[in-house]
Amino acid sequence: MALGHDPSDTGPSDNARSDNARSDKRPFDFDFIVIGSGFGGSVSAHRLVEKGYKVAVMEMGRRWTPDNLPRTSWSIHRWFWRPRLGLRGFFNMRLFRHATIFHGCAVGGGSITYACTLLPPPQKVWTSGSWSSLADWQSEMPRHYETASNMLGLTENKILGPADHLLQKAADASGVGHTFYCTKVGIFQSADGTPGQTFLDPFFGGEGPARSACIACGGCMMGCRHGAKNTLDLNYLYLAEKHGAKVFPETKVVDVRPLDGASDGSAGYEVSTVKSIAWMHRQPRRFTCRAVVFSASSLGTMELLFRLKEKGSLPAVSGELGKHVRTNSESLIGARTPGYSQDLSQGIAIGSGVYIDEHTHIEAVRYPLGSDAMGFLTTILTDGSPGPRRIALWLKNVMGSMLRHPFKTVRVLQPRGWAREFVILLCMQALEGEIEMRWQHPWFWPFHKFLVSRGEKVPTYIPKANEFAKKFAQLTGGFAMSMLPEILFDVPGTAHCIGGCVIADSPGHGVVDHRHRVFGYKNMYICDGSVVAANLGVNPSFTITALAERAMSFIAPKAETGWNDAPLAIVHAKVHADAG
Ligand SMILES: Cc1cc2nc3c(=O)[nH]c(=O)nc-3n(C[C@H](O)[C@H](O)[C@H](O)COP(=O)(O)OP(=O)(O)OC[C@H]3O[C@@H](n4cnc5c(N)ncnc54)[C@H](O)[C@@H]3O)c2cc1C
Ligand code: SF4
Repeated sequence: MALGHDPSDTGPSDNARSDNARSDKRPFDFDFIVIGSGFGGSVSAHRLVEKGYKVAVMEMGRRWTPDNLPRTSWSIHRWFWRPRLGLRGFFNMRLFRHATIFHGCAVGGGSITYACTLLPPPQKVWTSGSWSSLADWQSEMPRHYETASNMLGLTENKILGPADHLLQKAADASGVGHTFYCTKVGIFQSADGTPGQTFLDPFFGGEGPARSACIACGGCMMGCRHGAKNTLDLNYLYLAEKHGAKVFPETKVVDVRPLDGASDGSAGYEVSTVKSIAWMHRQPRRFTCRAVVFSASSLGTMELLFRLKEKGSLPAVSGELGKHVRTNSESLIGARTPGYSQDLSQGIAIGSGVYIDEHTHIEAVRYPLGSDAMGFLTTILTDGSPGPRRIALWLKNVMGSMLRHPFKTVRVLQPRGWAREFVILLCMQALEGEIEMRWQHPWFWPFHKFLVSRGEKVPTYIPKANEFAKKFAQLTGGFAMSMLPEILFDVPGTAHCIGGCVIADSPGHGVVDHRHRVFGYKNMYICDGSVVAANLGVNPSFTITALAERAMSFIAPKAETGWNDAPLAIVHAKVHADAG
């Protein structure tokens, strides 16, 4: 159905001409306003500028450079994002009943804090979920992954640190050594150059910035201070700005309303913003535009759309908003070895991975030397099903360890030296499982509504993964470790929240059509992790980038646009009405 001719592709229709006549009376501040500058937002900005549009990017987070990035995670105010508490970093952590969700908040979105792993998902994701029959994904997506790969500078990791070698040994000991692989990453690792050596733009034929070769400091998730990580502000967003996109940092979008009483947005939109880091004087501003791209991440776009639907700004957004949220079924475990002979923080943040079974994938993750703050969250590994019994077992394990090795146990439970001695094992499962986000008053706070998670709990205890952590620890003579919140609250941590505004055939099943056009509105798109309609089982940024490339490929150049881009379900309704 969606593969055929789409009536909205043609030049301006009669309706469009009258929309245009109406909206041409007013000068617009921008053609497109993109909300959020992460993977979806930066791709959108770059491709729209290329097509001749005047583009603004509203970004809630700050702009980061090698000079203002934190050296270690102890610089909490430059790491965490919680502006009302004076924390103005690029890393956010949101607690829900079903998951603790980690995400980025910066010019460049999650790319500033992400670990640069760029993996394509297995083919089966295109044949499951609400998007499966809407496009010939398997033949269309490879070219968009290829473009994404060139733009993000994807390469196979050439730098294996001590943690990666240990992962390989643990995989051998578990009988899955053949599955060991070096990650594909978006890091500039020169094949022949010395680490740290600077090169004139190695990626975009002189259009891009100069870059330095990776020095394997393990600091990718604290923001690369060495110009080696291919963050979006050095590729997509850099090129977008260079060619005219205007980026507004520290600018939070709080409202999006259709203009001139055209409730479907055909006459354009008014976008309201406030200063995101201000407490009192929030400097409200209003901008007008013909079209909007929501790219505020899965959580950010859901939150904004719920707010706007509820306050009546965008009431026609589908009731499917917040459904089919997926977390990649993650669990964080690891191993800590006090006094280990090698510095386990050396290497890149995620240098390698293994598959311990068909569904379960483990990556070796590290933080840079001195970034020990996460050490407060790790504790002695504890098996068992969630709930009071697991907490009791954990207390027993800690006490037992204290009795057997009092000094070593105290050493592994305190944070100093954590990054040097710890290898995080990030376990992801490609199994189906989803939760729902609703816009509700939480039981403890009747004054405001918030996103609240609902549904089946995602398992925090993956027995095979715990067994693997034990094998890993045996190799180094260290301790296998769990994450404290997973044991105490049975809440898994995830950096891979996707879905909530999924691609579907109609507003009865999702929020956008297969070209990312929002059901119920014209010239409105969503390009971020929220549209992903299946559990990827791998880190999602590569797929978000490729999907955004595909979505933007459908948008006509400015000279040819009819400003009449409507989602397919609405077009069908109109065609049927016309036929009647
Ligand atoms: C520590 C960490 C490590 C990770 N490692 C990897 C990895 O190795 N590989 C991988 O594939 N993925 C990784 N991820 C996940 C990855 O960062 C996300 O999947 C990805 O960034 C999502 O892209 P996006 O386009 O959906 O949105 P994002 O990149 O999250 O960008 C959304 C942007 O919108 C902004 N925003 C939100 N609301 C508003 C608003 N109202 N107004 C204005 N701006 C707004 C936010 O500040 C943010 O900058 C990691 C994440 C974390 C936290
Ligand atoms: S390992 Fe260090 S130098 Fe290399 S990309 Fe990561 S932060 Fe940059």
